[in-house]
Amino acid sequence: MKNKLTAKQHATHNTIVTVGKIKIGGLTPTIIAGPCSVESEEQLLKTAVGVAEAGAHLLRGGAFKPRTSPYSFQGLGEDGLKLLVKAREKTGLTIVTEIVSEKYIPLFEKYEVDVYQVGARNCQNYDLLKALGKVKKPVLLKRGMGTKLEEFLLSAEYLVHHGNPNVIMCERGITTFENYTRNTLDLNTVAALKQLTHLPIIVDPSHGTGIRSLVTPLARASIAAGADGLIIEVHQKPEEALCDGQQSLNLAEFSELVDQVNKISHAVKK
Ligand code: PEP
Ligand code: MN
Repeated sequence: MKNKLTAKQHATHNTIVTVGKIKIGGLTPTIIAGPCSVESEEQLLKTAVGVAEAGAHLLRGGAFKPRTSPYSFQGLGEDGLKLLVKAREKTGLTIVTEIVSEKYIPLFEKYEVDVYQVGARNCQNYDLLKALGKVKKPVLLKRGMGTKLEEFLLSAEYLVHHGNPNVIMCERGITTFENYTRNTLDLNTVAALKQLTHLPIIVDPSHGTGIRSLVTPLARASIAAGADGLIIEVHQKPEEALCDGQQSLNLAEFSELVDQVNKISHAVKK
C-alpha cells in the first residue's frame, strides 16, 4: 500500500489528536455525541447539556447537511454554526461539524469550529481533502459507504500529505446486500486499521446500524474491537428530530451507553 505517511509500519508512535483538553487515540475512549442536525437553540442546548452531564467529551451537530433528497431538511447553515458556538460556551464541549465544501472553510474559521467532519459522501472528494490539508484544525474523516479500506486509508493520506497530521478516521458502516440495517458496520476494518495505521479510529454505530436499539450493542462491540472512540447521535426528543430520529438515542439511553462502554473499556484496557 502506498500510504507512507499514515502507515503504522513507519511510525514510532500512535498519533494522538488533541482537541482542547481531550486526547483522541490515547488510553481512554473519546465519546462524541449530539444531534444529527442542529435544529433550534432549545434542541441543541438541551441536548448539549444532557450529553455533557452523561460524560460526552465533544459535541456533534450538523449545520450543513448532505441529504439524499433535495426536499429533506438541509440544515440551518451559518445559523447552525452560531448555535454550536453558543452550546460550546454553555457546556465547555468542543464542537465537531460537517464541512460539505471547501468554500465553507472561511466560515468554519470565523466560528472557530474545533473539528472539521468530512462526511461519507465526501470521503473521496479530493479537492476538499487537499483544502483541509491546509487547515489548522483536526479532521474527522468518515469512510464512504462504498469505500474500500485501502481507499479510505489513501483519503487519510491525502490530508496528511497536504499538511494536516491531525486526522481521526471513522468507520460508519458500508453498503452491502443486507438491508435490514441502514448500513453494515464493518468492525473488520476497525481491527485492521489498528494494525495498519497510527491514526486514531472511531466508530459511528448510529449510521452504522440506523436502528436505535442496535446502537448501544454495536458501541460496546466497537470498543471491544479496539476503537479509540465513538460518535453517537443523541436528541433530547428523538421522535421530533428533523433528521435521523430513528437512530438517535434519548438522553437516558445515551447515559446508559456511556456506562456500558466504560465497563467494556475497563475490561479490555482501553
Ligand atoms: C452525519 O454524521 O450526520 C452524517 C451525515 O454521516 P455520514 O456522512 O456518515 O452519512
Ligand atoms: Mn445523521
